[in-house]
Amino acid sequence: MKIAVINCGSSSLKFKLFEMPGAKVLRSELVEHIGEPNSSVANHFEAIESLHVNFSEIDAVGHRVVHGGEKFRGSVLIDDAVVQTIRKLIPLAPLHNPANLEGIEVVRQKASNIPQIAVFDTAFHTTLKKEAFVYALSYALYEKHDIRRYGFHGTSHACLLHKAAALLGKKVQETNIITLHLGNGASACAIKKGKSCDTSMGFTPLEGLVMGSRCGDIDPAIVLYLQKSLHVNAEEIDEMLNKKSGLLGLCGENDVRNIEKRTDEAAKMAMDIMVRRIQKYIGAYMVLLEDVDAIVFSGGIGENSSYVRERVMNNKILKNIKSLVIKTDEELQIVNECLEVLKK
Ligand code: AMP
Repeated sequence: MKIAVINCGSSSLKFKLFEMPGAKVLRSELVEHIGEPNSSVANHFEAIESLHVNFSEIDAVGHRVVHGGEKFRGSVLIDDAVVQTIRKLIPLAPLHNPANLEGIEVVRQKASNIPQIAVFDTAFHTTLKKEAFVYALSYALYEKHDIRRYGFHGTSHACLLHKAAALLGKKVQETNIITLHLGNGASACAIKKGKSCDTSMGFTPLEGLVMGSRCGDIDPAIVLYLQKSLHVNAEEIDEMLNKKSGLLGLCGENDVRNIEKRTDEAAKMAMDIMVRRIQKYIGAYMVLLEDVDAIVFSGGIGENSSYVRERVMNNKILKNIKSLVIKTDEELQIVNECLEVLKK
């Protein structure tokens, strides 16, 4: 059986074709700069067209969908009602859910008979309890406006959980780990008995760790100060916090390969701040989990930077905990979930 995985980002499209079971990759493609000025690819429809996919040989298509809100607690077969709900969630993920819907729509137009499955970035974190997902704001903001921690990178944390459990020789439902997805976007997850029990990203992917260009945790009063005293408007603040902060804001670039080689104060400070934030989350999650089988490093930085890994683990308490380096594979996780949905 051939299953395709389509991962539509706001300006990119990843396509992978798998032979299942066994997950042999038959084809892997990446289309970038979709809809950008001077790009030959105007939208996700054209991106798929450019790949000349033969849909008649494909048995099912899995889509990564960023935001499933509280509605989707797992992967689902896509029908009109599912599409409607993903559309309703656009205000919570204004850049990503529309791109994901475009991917779904393209396949519907090209091959309406193929079953399509939605795999949500948020679903893995729907096991969070209220004490983990409710912010200490007026409770009405959660009840009436859905303001809560959702968490993201769920397919990656789920993939890391399954791979770590196999490496540790444990059942998934008995595995207690802290997973660190450290890429340009970064998040930590405390996994207790195979379930996400806390995660660093929140209402949006802005909260938590220091990222390539996102600030992660800050005092929310800074936003008010920027607005009132420095007269920066909401769009500008959004741009500042998401695109001009993190490693980029601290030392002028976000490529850890280069930052590691630099010897100047700004580069050293950026690394110090990033490492300290990771350690703070590990410390907090160790207390929540009580038993920690391993700390798992993943993502472009976690998988490749021994410098960052050693800096994080160079600590009297952490020295006694096993650390694992695991390559995350979101498409593999998606295709495995597709198979589970199709079996039902
Ligand atoms: P990702 O978003 O998962 O692709 O990760 C991107 C981040 O991984 C960037 O900050 C890269 O600098 C970093 N990265 C990739 N390869 C390496 C490497 N060999 N050493 C250190 N950092 C790396």
